[in-house]
Amino acid sequence: VWENCLKIIKDNVPAQSFKTWFEPIKALKLDTNVLTIQVPSVFFYEWLEEHYVSLLRKTIKHQLGSDGRLEYNIVMDKSSGSKNPYTVNYPTNNNGELKNQPVPMPVNINESIKNPFVIPGLKKLNIDPQLNAKYSFDNFVEGECNRLARSAGFAVAQKPGGTSFNPLFIYGGAGLGKTHLAQAIGSSVKTMYPDKLVLYVQAEKFGQQFVDSLKNNTINDFVNFYQLIDVLVVDDVQFFSGKEKMQDIFFTIFNHLHTSGKQIIMTCDKAPKDLVGLEERLLSRFKWGLSADLQVPDIETRVSILQMKMKADGIQLPQDVIEYVAHNIDNNIRELEGALISLLAHSTLNRKEIDLPLAKQMLKNFIKHSTKEISMEYIQKFVCEYFEIPLEMVKSKTRKREIVQARQISMYLAKNHTKASLKTIGQFYGGRDHSTVIYACQTVEDLIDTDKKFKNWVQDIQKKLKMS
Ligand code: ADP
Ligand code: MG
Repeated sequence: VWENCLKIIKDNVPAQSFKTWFEPIKALKLDTNVLTIQVPSVFFYEWLEEHYVSLLRKTIKHQLGSDGRLEYNIVMDKSSGSKNPYTVNYPTNNNGELKNQPVPMPVNINESIKNPFVIPGLKKLNIDPQLNAKYSFDNFVEGECNRLARSAGFAVAQKPGGTSFNPLFIYGGAGLGKTHLAQAIGSSVKTMYPDKLVLYVQAEKFGQQFVDSLKNNTINDFVNFYQLIDVLVVDDVQFFSGKEKMQDIFFTIFNHLHTSGKQIIMTCDKAPKDLVGLEERLLSRFKWGLSADLQVPDIETRVSILQMKMKADGIQLPQDVIEYVAHNIDNNIRELEGALISLLAHSTLNRKEIDLPLAKQMLKNFIKHSTKEISMEYIQKFVCEYFEIPLEMVKSKTRKREIVQARQISMYLAKNHTKASLKTIGQFYGGRDHSTVIYACQTVEDLIDTDKKFKNWVQDIQKKLKMS
């Protein structure tokens, strides 16, 4: 089809123009009445639209009927060849139907061009959004730790550019879901507004493209390309720290997009206020919209995440194994997933059901890496479960014997197994002062020496605490 089009075009434009503007075009695919062509740059695309739109339209209609449409793909950085992220690699098939096309008729190109940029049904630009289907809102587990960021992201996805969350700045530590959430926003926009140009890019990749464009003298193409985007997601913007030229170019693009009401979403491993090496004018823009953080997930969220992943993979693990994993890997969701995957791999390889002892054995290395010291919360929970008393009781004023005992044991364990000061421990256990903690520890030590049953309790708890 495109070859037929070219024939018509050739008859209607000067030879030199044909060579410059039409020969470099590559036909990519034909879907019933939509022909997709690839052009070398944004500038190229705009030039075609400006100067040849009428000719193109007529040619396409002539070849594909009155519903015929043309879509463009733009090549971004030529240097990376077939790995070019901005071209969808469609097979360039010239299927047999072409032979049956009618003989080209002369096309009258003298019809005046009224508004080259608004031709409904003809112009459509495609860019591969670089989104990964595995990240969606559906499989992003909601918890206290991500509620604000998630709901802001959701709002942005519903109305990109139309909320006050522009830019949306998502920050948090490694493995807490920044990329997942940012990608989910992009995908969700694409589903709801297929015609919007969405682009996900890692800041590092953006930087590489920028450097390449400097080298190849194509900086205008680079900027023009980014300024076309409707929803731009830039992942890990801390990469821009200390890179002034890159920040300048990003500043230009940012301003252009923001002024045109386009949506910008950024992720970062730090809060804007903690970002160093970033120009003040850029930083202040980062704060224009909404900054929302992703925090370390609490135990319930960690369990939900594991359960969700298992369900997605159609597998099951015993509840105590899940809880063990969730308890022990507590500050990185990527590691949480990693533990699950390695458990499954082991069990498949060894054809063994995973029970708790096996899980502990297999995750030894994982957990040594990621556990922090035992927390006072954990001790409290542990001791209360052991004595089967309500969690909040140990912090209360009650002087009931078994509660006092549990409280004193908790304080003793906190002193011996955490780095917390006596003052902090006292504060934690119901706002008591440090002398109460000293007294508690002394009491426990005395009882260990004199009361065999008590000694067994404490040893038992300590052993279990260490094992967990
Ligand atoms: P970051 O970009 O912050 O380093 P990622 O987005 O790459 O983290 O997340 C690490 C892994 O954890 C990914 O596989 C992601 O799918 C998963 N993950 C993170 N947060 C959640 C969540 N709330 N629900 C489900 N999976 C999550
Ligand atoms: Mg990431």
